[in-house]
Amino acid sequence: MPPVVDVHKCSGCAPREESRCEEVCPGDLMAVDIAAGKAYCRNPRDCWDCMSCVKACPNGALATRMPYQLGYFKARLRPVMGKGVITWKCVDIYGKERTYKYRNRIIPDT
Ligand code: SF4
Ligand code: SF4
Repeated sequence: MPPVVDVHKCSGCAPREESRCEEVCPGDLMAVDIAAGKAYCRNPRDCWDCMSCVKACPNGALATRMPYQLGYFKARLRPVMGKGVITWKCVDIYGKERTYKYRNRIIPDT
């Protein structure tokens, strides 16, 4: 399932030459429509939900659509990257949001 792009939040990563989602996608699947200035997945069937683009977006404009077997199409999962912490925002098929916060890196004391 390709990531869902929130066109209201996507800035196209201007003025960067290459957007962050393009930069990190291991399958070279993300692109920015020059005319619209918005990201899209150019080959959705090849996306394997690694979520690299979703984590890298500085605007929180990308979300992972949950596959049918897990939650039907309305369900979404969006990670919000923090310093040493990742917050997962999970929206179920009824629109109810749950938030999970995990430490994802141990930063040594200096
Ligand atoms: S990283 Fe986010 S803001 Fe930048 S082009 Fe991709 S979706 Fe848009
Ligand atoms: S989820 Fe992974 S494979 Fe799919 S478009 Fe994003 S970076 Fe590429």
